[in-house]
Amino acid sequence: MKILVINSGSSSLKFQVIDSVTEEVLVKGLCERIGIDGRFTYKTYHGISIKEPVTMENHKQAVNTILDTLVDPEKGVLADFGEIDVVGHRLVHGGEKFSGSVVITDEVIQAMTECNDLAPLHNPANLVGVAACRELMPDTLMVGVFDTAFNQTMEPKAYLYGLPYRYYEKYKIRRYGFHGISHKYVSQRAAEFMRQDPRRVKTIVCHLGNGASISAVKYGKVIDNSMGFTPLEGLVMGTRCGDVDPGALEFLATKENMDIHQIMTILNQESGVLGISKNLSSDFRELKDAEIKYNEKASLAREIFAYKVAKYIGSYAAAMNGVDNIVFTAGVGENDSDIREEICEYLEFLGIQIDEVQNRDQGEAIRISTGTSRVNVLVIKTNEELEIAREAAALAEQIKSIEK
Ligand code: ADP
Repeated sequence: MKILVINSGSSSLKFQVIDSVTEEVLVKGLCERIGIDGRFTYKTYHGISIKEPVTMENHKQAVNTILDTLVDPEKGVLADFGEIDVVGHRLVHGGEKFSGSVVITDEVIQAMTECNDLAPLHNPANLVGVAACRELMPDTLMVGVFDTAFNQTMEPKAYLYGLPYRYYEKYKIRRYGFHGISHKYVSQRAAEFMRQDPRRVKTIVCHLGNGASISAVKYGKVIDNSMGFTPLEGLVMGTRCGDVDPGALEFLATKENMDIHQIMTILNQESGVLGISKNLSSDFRELKDAEIKYNEKASLAREIFAYKVAKYIGSYAAAMNGVDNIVFTAGVGENDSDIREEICEYLEFLGIQIDEVQNRDQGEAIRISTGTSRVNVLVIKTNEELEIAREAAALAEQIKSIEK
Protein backbone atom coordinates (compact mmCIF):
# COMPACT_ATOMS: atom_id res chain seq x y z
CA MET A 1 0.00 0.00 0.00
CA LYS A 2 1.06 3.59 -0.56
CA ILE A 3 0.33 5.90 2.31
CA LEU A 4 0.36 9.69 2.12
CA VAL A 5 1.23 10.99 5.59
CA ILE A 6 0.11 14.55 6.33
CA ASN A 7 1.07 16.72 9.28
CA SER A 8 -0.85 19.95 8.92
CA GLY A 9 0.00 23.05 10.95
CA SER A 10 -1.45 26.54 10.81
CA SER A 11 0.85 27.77 8.03
CA SER A 12 2.78 24.64 7.10
CA LEU A 13 2.05 21.13 5.89
CA LYS A 14 4.60 18.31 6.07
CA PHE A 15 4.11 15.22 3.94
CA GLN A 16 5.63 11.86 3.08
CA VAL A 17 4.62 9.01 0.82
CA ILE A 18 5.55 5.68 2.38
CA ASP A 19 5.30 2.20 0.91
CA SER A 20 3.75 0.22 3.75
CA VAL A 21 5.29 -3.10 2.63
CA THR A 22 8.93 -2.03 2.25
CA GLU A 23 8.49 0.93 4.65
CA GLU A 24 10.51 2.95 2.16
CA VAL A 25 9.93 6.70 2.01
CA LEU A 26 9.19 7.44 -1.66
CA VAL A 27 9.04 11.17 -1.17
CA LYS A 28 9.07 13.68 1.64
CA GLY A 29 8.51 17.39 1.69
CA LEU A 30 7.08 20.49 3.20
CA CYS A 31 4.75 23.32 2.20
CA GLU A 32 5.69 26.36 4.26
CA ARG A 33 4.37 29.87 4.68
CA ILE A 34 0.91 28.88 3.39
CA GLY A 35 -1.17 32.01 3.01
CA ILE A 36 1.99 34.15 3.15
CA ASP A 37 4.56 33.79 0.38
CA GLY A 38 4.55 29.99 -0.05
CA ARG A 39 7.62 27.75 -0.13
CA PHE A 40 7.68 24.18 -1.41
CA THR A 41 10.31 21.58 -0.58
CA TYR A 42 10.19 18.10 -2.08
CA LYS A 43 12.67 15.24 -2.23
CA THR A 44 12.25 11.79 -3.76
CA TYR A 45 14.03 8.52 -3.01
CA HIS A 46 15.58 8.60 -6.49
CA GLY A 47 17.29 11.94 -5.99
CA ILE A 48 14.87 14.56 -7.33
CA SER A 49 14.95 17.61 -5.15
CA ILE A 50 12.86 20.79 -5.39
CA LYS A 51 13.05 23.89 -3.25
CA GLU A 52 11.11 26.77 -4.73
CA PRO A 53 8.59 29.50 -4.00
CA VAL A 54 5.06 28.40 -4.90
CA THR A 55 1.97 30.49 -4.27
CA MET A 56 -0.23 28.61 -1.81
CA GLU A 57 -3.01 30.79 -0.56
CA ASN A 58 -4.54 28.07 1.59
CA HIS A 59 -4.12 24.44 2.59
CA LYS A 60 -6.17 23.21 -0.36
CA GLN A 61 -3.69 24.82 -2.74
CA ALA A 62 -0.85 23.29 -0.74
CA VAL A 63 -2.34 19.78 -1.03
CA ASN A 64 -2.97 20.45 -4.72
CA THR A 65 0.70 21.36 -5.19
CA ILE A 66 1.73 18.12 -3.48
CA LEU A 67 -0.63 15.96 -5.55
CA ASP A 68 0.36 17.63 -8.83
CA THR A 69 4.05 17.11 -8.09
CA LEU A 70 3.52 13.49 -7.01
CA VAL A 71 2.07 12.62 -10.44
CA ASP A 72 4.31 14.90 -12.52
CA PRO A 73 5.88 12.80 -15.34
CA GLU A 74 9.38 14.07 -14.51
CA LYS A 75 9.38 14.79 -10.79
CA GLY A 76 6.65 12.45 -9.61
CA VAL A 77 6.70 9.04 -7.93
CA LEU A 78 3.14 7.99 -8.86
CA ALA A 79 1.39 7.49 -12.20
CA ASP A 80 -1.91 8.66 -10.74
CA PHE A 81 -2.84 9.86 -7.28
CA GLY A 82 -5.44 7.09 -7.17
CA GLU A 83 -2.36 4.98 -6.31
CA ILE A 84 -2.52 6.46 -2.82
CA ASP A 85 -4.44 3.85 -0.84
CA VAL A 86 -4.86 5.85 2.32
CA VAL A 87 -3.98 9.23 3.80
CA GLY A 88 -2.73 9.18 7.41
CA HIS A 89 -3.23 12.47 9.24
CA ARG A 90 -1.32 13.43 12.37
CA LEU A 91 -3.86 14.86 14.76
CA VAL A 92 -2.72 16.47 17.97
CA HIS A 93 -5.55 16.17 20.47
CA GLY A 94 -8.18 13.49 20.66
CA GLY A 95 -9.23 14.30 24.23
CA GLU A 96 -10.78 11.29 25.97
CA LYS A 97 -12.76 10.43 22.86
CA PHE A 98 -9.96 8.75 20.91
CA SER A 99 -7.75 6.06 22.37
CA GLY A 100 -6.62 4.75 18.99
CA SER A 101 -6.46 5.67 15.32
CA VAL A 102 -9.74 6.19 13.46
CA VAL A 103 -11.17 6.32 9.98
CA ILE A 104 -12.07 9.97 9.45
CA THR A 105 -15.78 10.44 8.88
CA ASP A 106 -18.09 13.43 9.35
CA GLU A 107 -18.82 12.15 12.88
CA VAL A 108 -15.11 11.98 13.71
CA ILE A 109 -14.60 15.51 12.43
CA GLN A 110 -17.48 16.65 14.60
CA ALA A 111 -15.97 14.88 17.65
CA MET A 112 -12.56 16.38 16.89
CA THR A 113 -14.00 19.83 16.54
CA GLU A 114 -15.38 19.38 20.03
CA CYS A 115 -11.76 18.85 21.20
CA ASN A 116 -10.63 22.15 19.62
CA ASP A 117 -10.84 23.96 22.95
CA LEU A 118 -8.25 21.55 24.34
CA ALA A 119 -5.70 22.37 21.62
CA PRO A 120 -6.77 25.67 20.06
CA LEU A 121 -3.48 26.18 18.21
CA HIS A 122 -3.13 22.70 16.77
CA ASN A 123 -6.47 20.95 16.25
CA PRO A 124 -8.10 23.51 13.95
CA ALA A 125 -4.90 23.57 11.84
CA ASN A 126 -4.95 19.75 11.64
CA LEU A 127 -8.58 19.83 10.56
CA VAL A 128 -7.89 22.31 7.78
CA GLY A 129 -5.41 19.80 6.32
CA VAL A 130 -7.97 17.00 6.65
CA ALA A 131 -10.65 19.09 4.92
CA ALA A 132 -8.30 19.96 2.03
CA CYS A 133 -7.42 16.28 1.47
CA ARG A 134 -11.04 15.14 1.69
CA GLU A 135 -12.07 17.71 -0.87
CA LEU A 136 -9.33 16.86 -3.34
CA MET A 137 -9.37 13.08 -2.80
CA PRO A 138 -13.00 12.33 -1.95
CA ASP A 139 -12.69 8.60 -2.68
CA THR A 140 -9.52 7.99 -0.67
CA LEU A 141 -9.63 6.54 2.82
CA MET A 142 -8.51 9.04 5.49
CA VAL A 143 -7.17 7.88 8.85
CA GLY A 144 -6.51 10.07 11.89
CA VAL A 145 -3.62 9.21 14.21
CA PHE A 146 -3.67 11.14 17.48
CA ASP A 147 -0.70 12.34 19.48
CA THR A 148 -2.68 11.79 22.69
CA ALA A 149 -4.13 8.33 21.90
CA PHE A 150 -1.25 6.13 23.12
CA ASN A 151 -1.34 7.96 26.46
CA GLN A 152 -5.02 7.17 27.01
CA THR A 153 -4.09 4.03 28.97
CA MET A 154 -3.01 6.21 31.91
CA GLU A 155 -5.03 5.55 35.05
CA PRO A 156 -6.88 8.28 36.99
CA LYS A 157 -4.14 8.30 39.65
CA ALA A 158 -1.71 9.40 36.92
CA TYR A 159 -3.93 11.71 34.92
CA LEU A 160 -5.90 13.59 37.55
CA TYR A 161 -4.60 16.81 39.04
CA GLY A 162 -5.10 17.66 42.68
CA LEU A 163 -7.88 20.04 41.66
CA PRO A 164 -11.57 19.87 42.58
CA TYR A 165 -12.97 16.82 40.78
CA ARG A 166 -15.84 18.88 39.39
CA TYR A 167 -13.46 20.58 36.95
CA TYR A 168 -12.56 17.23 35.49
CA GLU A 169 -16.25 16.39 35.20
CA LYS A 170 -17.20 19.75 33.76
CA TYR A 171 -14.26 20.56 31.47
CA LYS A 172 -12.17 17.37 31.29
CA ILE A 173 -9.24 19.15 32.90
CA ARG A 174 -6.72 16.36 33.35
CA ARG A 175 -3.34 15.28 32.12
CA TYR A 176 -3.40 13.93 28.55
CA GLY A 177 0.30 13.62 27.71
CA PHE A 178 1.65 14.24 24.22
CA HIS A 179 4.22 12.88 21.73
CA GLY A 180 2.27 9.61 21.93
CA ILE A 181 3.03 8.66 18.32
CA SER A 182 6.76 8.92 19.03
CA HIS A 183 6.54 7.17 22.42
CA LYS A 184 4.69 4.27 20.84
CA TYR A 185 7.08 3.90 17.93
CA VAL A 186 10.22 4.19 20.05
CA SER A 187 9.09 1.90 22.90
CA GLN A 188 8.14 -0.81 20.39
CA ARG A 189 11.32 -0.39 18.36
CA ALA A 190 13.35 -0.69 21.57
CA ALA A 191 11.73 -4.04 22.42
CA GLU A 192 12.23 -5.24 18.85
CA PHE A 193 15.88 -4.13 18.86
CA MET A 194 16.52 -5.89 22.18
CA ARG A 195 14.53 -8.96 21.04
CA GLN A 196 12.12 -8.58 23.94
CA ASP A 197 8.40 -9.20 24.14
CA PRO A 198 6.95 -5.66 24.44
CA ARG A 199 4.21 -7.04 26.71
CA ARG A 200 6.83 -8.04 29.28
CA VAL A 201 9.12 -5.00 29.48
CA LYS A 202 9.17 -1.72 31.34
CA THR A 203 10.50 1.12 29.22
CA ILE A 204 11.11 4.80 29.86
CA VAL A 205 11.19 6.84 26.65
CA CYS A 206 12.88 10.25 26.80
CA HIS A 207 11.67 12.24 23.78
CA LEU A 208 14.05 15.18 24.04
CA GLY A 209 13.51 17.65 21.21
CA ASN A 210 12.61 21.29 21.23
CA GLY A 211 9.44 20.06 22.92
CA ALA A 212 10.37 17.32 25.39
CA SER A 213 8.46 14.63 27.23
CA ILE A 214 9.11 11.38 29.05
CA SER A 215 6.83 8.37 29.21
CA ALA A 216 6.66 5.26 31.33
CA VAL A 217 5.51 2.34 29.18
CA LYS A 218 4.79 -0.81 31.16
CA TYR A 219 3.97 -4.00 29.27
CA GLY A 220 3.10 -2.03 26.13
CA LYS A 221 0.85 0.52 27.83
CA VAL A 222 1.58 4.08 28.89
CA ILE A 223 1.21 4.51 32.61
CA ASP A 224 2.52 8.06 32.72
CA ASN A 225 3.69 10.91 30.48
CA SER A 226 5.37 14.08 31.70
CA MET A 227 3.24 16.46 29.60
CA GLY A 228 -0.15 17.37 31.00
CA PHE A 229 -3.34 19.15 30.02
CA THR A 230 -1.13 20.94 27.50
CA PRO A 231 2.45 20.27 26.36
CA LEU A 232 3.67 22.88 28.85
CA GLU A 233 3.95 20.57 31.85
CA GLY A 234 6.94 18.43 32.74
CA LEU A 235 10.51 18.90 31.59
CA VAL A 236 12.30 22.18 31.03
CA MET A 237 12.20 22.43 27.21
CA GLY A 238 13.61 24.62 24.44
CA THR A 239 11.31 27.55 25.18
CA ARG A 240 8.68 26.03 27.52
CA CYS A 241 9.08 26.21 31.27
CA GLY A 242 7.84 22.75 32.32
CA ASP A 243 6.64 22.30 35.93
CA VAL A 244 6.32 25.61 37.81
CA ASP A 245 4.53 26.49 41.04
CA PRO A 246 1.37 28.39 39.95
CA GLY A 247 1.91 30.57 43.04
CA ALA A 248 5.03 31.99 41.39
CA LEU A 249 2.95 32.98 38.39
CA GLU A 250 0.41 34.87 40.46
CA PHE A 251 3.33 36.66 42.15
CA LEU A 252 4.89 37.51 38.77
CA ALA A 253 1.58 38.71 37.28
CA THR A 254 1.05 41.03 40.23
CA LYS A 255 4.60 42.40 40.24
CA GLU A 256 4.75 42.98 36.48
CA ASN A 257 1.08 43.81 36.01
CA MET A 258 0.56 41.12 33.40
CA ASP A 259 -2.59 39.30 32.34
CA ILE A 260 -2.88 35.53 31.88
CA HIS A 261 -2.15 35.73 28.13
CA GLN A 262 1.12 37.59 28.73
CA ILE A 263 2.07 35.05 31.37
CA MET A 264 1.29 32.16 28.98
CA THR A 265 3.45 33.71 26.26
CA ILE A 266 6.36 33.85 28.70
CA LEU A 267 5.80 30.24 29.79
CA ASN A 268 5.51 28.88 26.24
CA GLN A 269 7.90 31.02 24.25
CA GLU A 270 10.39 32.78 26.50
CA SER A 271 11.21 30.16 29.13
CA GLY A 272 12.99 26.79 29.13
CA VAL A 273 16.68 26.70 28.27
CA LEU A 274 16.18 29.86 26.18
CA GLY A 275 14.99 31.82 29.20
CA ILE A 276 17.49 30.32 31.63
CA SER A 277 20.38 31.10 29.26
CA LYS A 278 19.22 34.74 29.18
CA ASN A 279 17.92 34.41 25.60
CA LEU A 280 21.15 32.93 24.30
CA SER A 281 19.43 30.04 22.51
CA SER A 282 16.81 27.30 22.68
CA ASP A 283 19.08 25.14 20.54
CA PHE A 284 21.20 22.67 22.47
CA ARG A 285 24.01 22.82 19.91
CA GLU A 286 24.39 26.55 20.44
CA LEU A 287 24.22 26.13 24.20
CA LYS A 288 26.96 23.51 24.05
CA ASP A 289 29.17 25.81 21.96
CA ALA A 290 28.60 28.58 24.50
CA GLU A 291 29.30 26.24 27.41
CA ILE A 292 32.67 25.37 25.89
CA LYS A 293 33.40 29.11 25.93
CA TYR A 294 32.56 29.19 29.67
CA ASN A 295 29.14 30.80 29.33
CA GLU A 296 27.73 30.11 32.80
CA LYS A 297 24.07 30.53 31.91
CA ALA A 298 24.36 28.12 28.96
CA SER A 299 25.98 25.64 31.30
CA LEU A 300 23.28 26.15 33.92
CA ALA A 301 20.49 25.68 31.34
CA ARG A 302 21.91 22.34 30.22
CA GLU A 303 22.49 21.30 33.84
CA ILE A 304 18.89 22.08 34.83
CA PHE A 305 17.59 20.23 31.76
CA ALA A 306 19.61 17.09 32.54
CA TYR A 307 18.71 17.16 36.25
CA LYS A 308 15.00 17.35 35.47
CA VAL A 309 15.17 14.47 32.98
CA ALA A 310 17.00 12.34 35.55
CA LYS A 311 14.38 13.15 38.21
CA TYR A 312 11.55 12.07 35.90
CA ILE A 313 13.37 8.86 35.03
CA GLY A 314 13.80 8.12 38.74
CA SER A 315 10.12 8.75 39.45
CA TYR A 316 8.99 6.62 36.50
CA ALA A 317 11.22 3.76 37.60
CA ALA A 318 9.36 3.97 40.92
CA ALA A 319 5.96 4.26 39.20
CA MET A 320 6.64 1.03 37.27
CA ASN A 321 8.46 -0.64 40.17
CA GLY A 322 11.47 -1.14 37.93
CA VAL A 323 12.76 -0.40 34.46
CA ASP A 324 14.32 -2.59 31.74
CA ASN A 325 14.99 -0.04 28.98
CA ILE A 326 15.67 3.67 28.96
CA VAL A 327 15.54 5.14 25.47
CA PHE A 328 16.70 8.52 24.24
CA THR A 329 15.11 9.95 21.12
CA ALA A 330 14.34 13.19 19.14
CA GLY A 331 16.80 16.00 18.26
CA VAL A 332 18.58 16.32 21.60
CA GLY A 333 18.16 12.70 22.73
CA GLU A 334 19.48 11.30 19.46
CA ASN A 335 22.40 13.66 19.03
CA ASP A 336 23.65 15.09 22.30
CA SER A 337 25.87 12.40 23.80
CA ASP A 338 27.10 14.76 26.57
CA ILE A 339 23.56 15.34 27.86
CA ARG A 340 22.89 11.59 27.76
CA GLU A 341 26.02 10.93 29.79
CA GLU A 342 25.15 13.66 32.27
CA ILE A 343 21.63 12.28 32.75
CA CYS A 344 22.88 8.73 33.21
CA GLU A 345 25.39 9.79 35.88
CA TYR A 346 22.40 10.42 38.18
CA LEU A 347 21.13 6.90 37.51
CA GLU A 348 23.99 4.77 38.80
CA PHE A 349 21.72 3.72 41.70
CA LEU A 350 19.64 1.82 39.12
CA GLY A 351 22.74 -0.14 38.14
CA ILE A 352 23.13 1.85 34.94
CA GLN A 353 26.54 1.97 33.29
CA ILE A 354 27.20 3.78 30.04
CA ASP A 355 29.82 2.72 27.52
CA GLU A 356 31.52 6.00 26.63
CA VAL A 357 32.62 4.79 23.22
CA GLN A 358 29.22 3.44 22.22
CA ASN A 359 27.62 6.62 23.51
CA ARG A 360 29.49 8.52 20.76
CA ASP A 361 28.16 6.14 18.09
CA GLN A 362 25.52 7.11 15.53
CA GLY A 363 22.78 4.93 14.09
CA GLU A 364 19.09 4.27 13.74
CA ALA A 365 19.18 2.23 16.93
CA ILE A 366 22.19 1.79 19.23
CA ARG A 367 22.78 0.45 22.71
CA ILE A 368 24.94 2.74 24.82
CA SER A 369 24.91 0.79 28.09
CA THR A 370 27.61 -1.73 28.95
CA GLY A 371 27.00 -5.48 28.91
CA THR A 372 26.84 -5.50 32.72
CA SER A 373 24.48 -2.54 33.09
CA ARG A 374 21.29 -3.62 34.90
CA VAL A 375 19.17 -1.47 32.56
CA ASN A 376 19.52 -1.24 28.78
CA VAL A 377 20.13 2.33 27.68
CA LEU A 378 19.39 2.89 24.01
CA VAL A 379 19.34 5.67 21.45
CA ILE A 380 16.64 5.22 18.81
CA LYS A 381 15.73 7.59 16.01
CA THR A 382 12.07 8.41 16.27
CA ASN A 383 9.93 8.07 13.16
CA GLU A 384 6.47 9.48 13.69
CA GLU A 385 5.62 9.42 9.98
CA LEU A 386 6.35 5.70 9.78
CA GLU A 387 4.20 5.07 12.85
CA ILE A 388 1.33 7.03 11.24
CA ALA A 389 1.77 5.07 8.00
CA ARG A 390 1.70 1.78 9.93
CA GLU A 391 -1.46 2.76 11.80
CA ALA A 392 -3.14 3.94 8.59
CA ALA A 393 -2.17 0.77 6.71
CA ALA A 394 -3.37 -1.45 9.56
CA LEU A 395 -6.79 0.24 9.60
CA ALA A 396 -7.04 0.07 5.80
CA GLU A 397 -6.21 -3.67 5.91
CA GLN A 398 -8.87 -4.21 8.56
CA ILE A 399 -11.49 -2.47 6.46
CA LYS A 400 -10.49 -4.49 3.39
CA SER A 401 -10.79 -7.77 5.27
CA ILE A 402 -14.23 -6.80 6.62
CA GLU A 403 -15.39 -5.86 3.11
CA LYS A 404 -14.30 -9.28 1.83
P1 ADP B 1 10.92 19.37 17.57
O1 ADP B 1 10.37 18.26 16.68
O2 ADP B 1 10.32 19.39 18.93
O3 ADP B 1 10.99 20.70 16.93
P2 ADP B 1 13.46 18.01 17.26
O4 ADP B 1 13.22 16.65 17.78
O5 ADP B 1 13.64 18.20 15.81
O6 ADP B 1 12.41 19.01 17.88
O7 ADP B 1 14.74 18.58 18.03
C1 ADP B 1 15.23 19.86 17.72
C2 ADP B 1 16.34 20.18 18.70
O8 ADP B 1 17.33 19.15 18.69
C3 ADP B 1 17.10 21.44 18.32
O9 ADP B 1 16.50 22.56 18.89
C4 ADP B 1 18.44 21.19 18.93
O10 ADP B 1 18.45 21.76 20.21
C5 ADP B 1 18.56 19.70 19.07
N1 ADP B 1 19.64 19.11 18.27
C6 ADP B 1 19.62 18.77 16.98
N2 ADP B 1 20.84 18.28 16.60
C7 ADP B 1 21.63 18.33 17.69
C8 ADP B 1 22.99 17.99 17.97
N3 ADP B 1 23.78 17.47 17.02
N4 ADP B 1 23.45 18.17 19.23
C9 ADP B 1 22.65 18.68 20.19
N5 ADP B 1 21.37 19.04 19.98
C10 ADP B 1 20.87 18.86 18.78
